[in-house]
Order: sequence, then C-alpha cells, then structure tokens
Amino acid sequence: MRVRVGINGFGTIGKRVADAVAKQPDMELVGVTKTHPSYEAQRAVTNGYPLFIAGDGARAEFERAGLPVAGMLSDLLGHVDVVVDAAPEKIGRQNASLYRDAKVRAIFQGGEKADVAEVSFSALANFEAARGKRTVRVVSCNTTGLARAAAVLEPRYGVEDWQATLVRRAADPPESGRGPINGILPNFHLPSHHGPDVRTIFPNLPIATTAVIVPTTLMHVHVNRVRLRRPPADAAELVEAFRRTPRFLVFREWERIDGTPQVMEFGRDRGLGHNDVMENVLWENGIAVNGPTVEFFQAIHQESIVVPESIDAIRAMFDLARDGPTSIAITDRALGLPVP
Ligand code: NAD
Repeated sequence: MRVRVGINGFGTIGKRVADAVAKQPDMELVGVTKTHPSYEAQRAVTNGYPLFIAGDGARAEFERAGLPVAGMLSDLLGHVDVVVDAAPEKIGRQNASLYRDAKVRAIFQGGEKADVAEVSFSALANFEAARGKRTVRVVSCNTTGLARAAAVLEPRYGVEDWQATLVRRAADPPESGRGPINGILPNFHLPSHHGPDVRTIFPNLPIATTAVIVPTTLMHVHVNRVRLRRPPADAAELVEAFRRTPRFLVFREWERIDGTPQVMEFGRDRGLGHNDVMENVLWENGIAVNGPTVEFFQAIHQESIVVPESIDAIRAMFDLARDGPTSIAITDRALGLPVP
C-alpha cells in the first residue's frame, strides 16, 4: 500500500517534507500547496509536484506568473489519505476543520499547541502512540532535539533532573526581515515552554528549560546538564549510546567541527537535499560525565530535524511498519542518512 500524501504549505518545512515523501517507497506525493506564486512555487513545478492553491491565493495570480495549477486545496484533499500541514504557526489550527470535513488524516507541526492533535510525536520516543491515529502533531525542532536525547537517556539511565539552556537561532536563513541583528534576547518566560512541550511526549520527565535568542540563522545549540539515577561508567559509554542511536551524529575532536558553521559546511559537503543535517549533532569532546551528572552540547538544524519525524508519523498512522526502529530505518535509508 502506498499512502497518498498532500503537503499544505510549501515553505521551509513543507518543501523538505515533500521531497522526503517523494523518496519513500511506501508513500506517494499527490501535491503541494502555495498561497501565492514564488520561487518556491516554481521549484514545486520544476520538481513535477502538482501545485494546488491554499489560503487566500487566486488562480489568476498563478496564471499570470505562468505557473500551472492543478486545483484548490479542497481538490487536493479529495485525493489524499493524509495531509501534512506545514502552514505558518497557528494557521494549522485554522486548517484543522478543513481536514476534518474532508475526512482526511492530518499531521501538524510544532508551531501548533498540543491539543491540535490526538498525540504529540517524536519517532525514537513514542512511535507506538501515533499508530492508527487520525491526527498527530510532530513537535517543534527544539522539542524534537530534546525528546530524541531523552529517548537515549531516560530508558538507560533514568533522569532525575534535567536543566537545559536553549541558545536559539533568531531566524531561518531566508527570513531577511527578522532579527535581532546585534543582541542577545533572553526569553523571560522562566522556565521556557520547551520543558512542558517535551512532557507532551515524556509526561514525567523532570526537565526545566530556559532560552535565549542570538543573531545567527544556522542552528540552535542546547546546553544540557542532566542528573541520572544510574549514570554511565564514563563519557565513552555515553558517547557510544548516542552513536548507536539513529539520528545522532557525534563528531570526533580530530574532525575539527568547532561549532555550527562547520556543521553546516559538513551538511553542504554531504549534499543531502537542501544540504540538511537532520540528526542531533553532538561532539565527543562536548560530552562529560561527573559522578551522577552528565553534561553535553547538542546542535539542532531547525529547518530539517522534524522532516524524518513527519515521515515516521505517517508510517505509524497507517500501520506501515512493524515498529519504530523499522520505520526509522526505512525513512533514513530513503533520505540518505546513516543507519547505525
Ligand atoms: P514558512 O513560513 O517557511 O512556510 C509556511 C508556508 O505556508 C509558506 O509557504 C506560506 O506561504 C504558506 N501558507 C501561508 N498561509 C497558508 C495557509 N492558509 N494554508 C496553507 N499554507 C499557507 O514556515 P515554516 O518555518 O515552514 O513553519 C511551518 C510550521 O513548522 C510551523 O508550525 C512552525 O512552527 C513549524 N516548524 C518550523 C521550524 C523552523 O525552524 N522553520 C522548525 C520546526 C517546526
């Protein structure tokens, strides 16, 4: 069975999920939507993705731009089993009734509140929770990064206390209108909403988060300090635990990855679609074990980390894989990610 997938919102996340769906052996990309003509709409046409109109978009506008249109969002919804909503924050909630009325299953993104869907999702952590569901929310980039790390730490070592500081990128690279350009902005919600968001997946995880926004577009960096009930013998054990887990990349010191600029250069050299780095990125020399406390940095490529998660969410909803690890392996092979 090939699940028929539509993408509503062909922006930063939507265009990546569309490309990822098109690569999966058990999924068919039926079409994508844009509200207005743009270079991204042109890219959809060039890629051969049928283009539909969403929101306040008008057919005449696309015709003037010479972009062939296959129909309106309602037409797309008539031909899909599931829609991945990748519209801007809060628009997904508005779109939810359209999907319900069309009797189409839906995946929402992390810009929506948790109650937009039956379950919040991160593949390593709670694949089974999404099995057979009609609506699933893939949690945000930061929450996905933390949930993946929790999926390594909690079952093996038992988390007693987790303090994380999130150093957040100010904007995505194309968002030229956003700032700050020169400043560091503390998030005065103490603790930040990310901890509670992780608990939509790990309900009892004792995690507290704070956040600052810094003038970079490349990635987020999390600074983690975690007290464990049954700590690893040494840092080498923890490094191996991360390295043996899919969607973790642990750089060695000799690789000379000083920070996010080199991670992004690594991504450009590796050359996956959009030059993405979909893994949690850790550094061997950025992982320390001091008694019961472990400390580690992780970098998160905000534009792509949720892409494989959206694919696994589809597989869980439609019962296409025996279990989470099987789905993750199928997704990652198709995307060209390493399979440990
Ligand atoms: P984006 O602005 O890059 O893309 C959104 C797209 O949706 C645009 O192409 C826009 O034209 C289109 N759109 C606008 N109104 C629409 C409507 N009514 N119906 C359908 N499409 C519409 O946004 P994004 O960064 O891709 O974010 C999408 C979702 O993913 C949000 O919930 C966001 O919080 C979440 N998310 C974003 C990131 C990130 O770093 N960019 C990371 C993880 C999750």
